[in-house]
Amino acid sequence: MNEFNGRGLIAADAPNAIEVDHIVKRYGSFLAVDDISFAVKEGEIFGLLGPNGAGKSTLIRMMTTLIPITAGTARVAGHDVARDPNAVRHTIGVIPQALTSDLDLTVEENLNIYAKLYDVPAKRRKEAIAELLETVDLTKWRDAQTKTLSGGMRRRLEIARGLVHSPKIFFLDEPTTGLDPVSRVSVWEMLTSIKAKRKLTILITTHYMDEAEYCNRLVLLDRGRIVAMGTPTELKSQHMKGQLLMIECLPLGPALELLQTVPEVLDAAVFGSGIHAVVADAAVMAPKIRELLLARQFRPGRIEQIAPSLEDVFVSLTAARGANTNGVAA
Ligand code: ADP
Repeated sequence: MNEFNGRGLIAADAPNAIEVDHIVKRYGSFLAVDDISFAVKEGEIFGLLGPNGAGKSTLIRMMTTLIPITAGTARVAGHDVARDPNAVRHTIGVIPQALTSDLDLTVEENLNIYAKLYDVPAKRRKEAIAELLETVDLTKWRDAQTKTLSGGMRRRLEIARGLVHSPKIFFLDEPTTGLDPVSRVSVWEMLTSIKAKRKLTILITTHYMDEAEYCNRLVLLDRGRIVAMGTPTELKSQHMKGQLLMIECLPLGPALELLQTVPEVLDAAVFGSGIHAVVADAAVMAPKIRELLLARQFRPGRIEQIAPSLEDVFVSLTAARGANTNGVAA
């Protein structure tokens, strides 16, 4: 692979910003992260995707020195996370899942406290905060109490706070969970532009499969293991077993059950108000499926070939493992 697709091209010989090698996390006898290895290149936006409980937060917490590693190693900016946690902490910015800014303080006060905490010199502080407020589009809210901000604005404040000490590597744990679709897009646009301006490496987790398209590369996680890794384009082209048909049909549940008994249907799952079915030849199968549905007294609507999304890839990859894909949002 010479370069990655997505937001910005990354040279194949770019140095690694993060190296995770056979990392394991056990909580008692429960294996939350099961022997995972990957490397993230400098300048990449690297996504960890998977449903709730896949192990994304646990992985990010190990890489950011927040919880001990059971086995294996993680190196961040060349520093071993277990042996040299302080060196790691100085090079990274971390946005945890929970919103943690102080609600009673103003936007600017929240940033100021963090700048002091990170020993940003006093004369640099004012300028850095003004620049960050501009970056996350909160300049005119600088004197507003944090509790008066919307969810999306609070998320942007947290992003600014995580950048106050000019980290090189930025870890974000589900920064868009709970936001409306417009705010989700605006958080991503902001992140990609900050990444370009500050030459950051970003490692981000999400359970929204559509957000994978913003990543240079990603891993799909399921129950503590990697099920696939690559660029969004690679994952779609390599892991779909055939072509994809979108089938509108009522009633949906019984129609799905019927399609799952058809040998030529390699995979079928409900997506929104329709069924996505993987078949070897969509042009041949579309009329056959319509005929079958009509013959069984169903009411088929549109049946057409569509381009697979990453969620289709994920369902197709995890179906074989008997995974529960609930919690994977489109
Ligand atoms: P994700 O971020 O992908 O939703 P998590 O990393 O939070 O997943 O969790 C992975 C698994 O580990 C889940 O089954 C979760 O219940 C379990 N887990 C997470 N934290 C703890 C903990 N502190 N103690 C015991 N089990 C935990």
